[in-house]
Amino acid sequence: MERDIERVLVSTDEIAARVREMGNRLAADLMDRMPAEERADGSSVVLVPIMTGAVVFLADLMREMPLKMRLGLVAVTSYPGKSLESKGASISSELPADLGGKHVVIVDDILDSGQTLALVRRLIAEQAPASLSACVLLEKKREHAEGVSAEYVGFTIPDEFVVGYGLDYDGQYRNYPAIATLKPERVREAGPNSPA
Ligand code: 5GP
Ligand code: MG
Repeated sequence: MERDIERVLVSTDEIAARVREMGNRLAADLMDRMPAEERADGSSVVLVPIMTGAVVFLADLMREMPLKMRLGLVAVTSYPGKSLESKGASISSELPADLGGKHVVIVDDILDSGQTLALVRRLIAEQAPASLSACVLLEKKREHAEGVSAEYVGFTIPDEFVVGYGLDYDGQYRNYPAIATLKPERVREAGPNSPA
């Protein structure tokens, strides 16, 4: 794995420090939004991680949030196989159906074209949550679809294809512990005749 890496953009230590800050900030903001009985009861906070890229970030982030919460996973497909460009987002699992009146936080690895976040935001908003915000580890410096944005952003990075800390290339490198680019010879856009 290591020999496929070209350049580390965000180190493991930088990620850990920033995720701690984000978790604490997010938890404090959620607490502020809730009346005392709701805080104690803890049934109103729901994190909605977008699978699969958000898994690593989610696992670290939620443990930096000292409050009661539930999870409601959603899977979105936008990068089939070896492609490097978003092919448009589609929901590939049921969205949790009980988000009305809840404080919902969408958690994703990266905000790129914005199609994923725009779609999930729109579908969750239809359920009338008490509050809705989005938390992403990374945001690429570029325009996002529908002008969508995330309230919580860990790092802004250049518009390059990155892997690690949950982000994959053709299903691999999710377990690489930092955010990095791949050597060009490792990254080949799938052509019409290449295997999926
Ligand atoms: P968007 O819909 O904003 O274009 O893309 C969001 C999703 O595409 C992310 O959740 C992530 O899974 C994937 N994605 C976007 N940019 C990158 C990237 O640079 N590397 C990888 N591995 N995935 C990306
Ligand atoms: Mg994703």
